Amino acid sequence: MHVPGVLTRHDPTGAAAPVLLDSPHSGVVYPDDFRPIAPMELLRTGEDAFVHELFRDGPAKGAILIEAHFPRVYIDPNRAATDIDPDLLSEAWPGPLSPTEKSRLGLGLIRRLAVPGVPVHGKRLSVAEVKARIDRFYVPYHTAIGGAYDELSRRFGKVWHINCHSMKSVGNAMSTDVGARRPDIVLGDRDGRTCDHAFMKLVHDVLAGLGYSVAINDPYKGLELIMRYSDPGAGRHALQIEINRGLYMDEAKILRGPGFDKLQRDLGTLLDAVIDFARRQ
Ligand SMILES: [Zn+2]
Repeated sequence: MHVPGVLTRHDPTGAAAPVLLDSPHSGVVYPDDFRPIAPMELLRTGEDAFVHELFRDGPAKGAILIEAHFPRVYIDPNRAATDIDPDLLSEAWPGPLSPTEKSRLGLGLIRRLAVPGVPVHGKRLSVAEVKARIDRFYVPYHTAIGGAYDELSRRFGKVWHINCHSMKSVGNAMSTDVGARRPDIVLGDRDGRTCDHAFMKLVHDVLAGLGYSVAINDPYKGLELIMRYSDPGAGRHALQIEINRGLYMDEAKILRGPGFDKLQRDLGTLLDAVIDFARRQ
């Protein structure tokens, strides 16, 4: 399935396994009605650049891979649809809003700040503008994720979902760990609530065995995309992976770095282990 500018779903090209991968933040197709005042090079620091490429072997190994094409600064599928900062709006929202800490930091459903102190937009947005972003981008992405869960659940009785991201190598003032040098990998399961412990342990142990420093639920526990569809008691398991951008890219130039190929191979090793694990359950 390919929806231009919105998403592509890559189906397994080999024998299917109950594994779903998604890359919600690596999109680079900036919609025509996005008219930011922040410079493009600052906006682009919000991209989880190349993450869908790091996991591109997933479909050949049996996983579904869903990648977003729109940028997360335009609308972020990893937020609740009500996580909107009222200060972004030129008029009252017609319904309840529940802005979280992410909105306070400028990182809600619609991003307020490109980097600390630099607003994305030069004016407030109308309700119609924000609703159009939700209807045209956010809802189709969630429909694709929810649909993949339902299909895998019907066919295999279980779903093992890895929600794939990358993170700046050092947190800035919009992060909860400002100034901290981050580990290679941060895995999140909302403190054990979104997946079976055996799944977390498997992913952790494979990555640690490959030599990566791996933290769990600190500083990232995972958000909407692992919360909304997971239900470990019903066989629906979701885990977030955050990869340190210093491992695979030049963060200033947004180019693949010398470590890219090795990381991609190592993530292929991880996927082999995850798919083997999923087939044995
Ligand atoms: Zn991300």
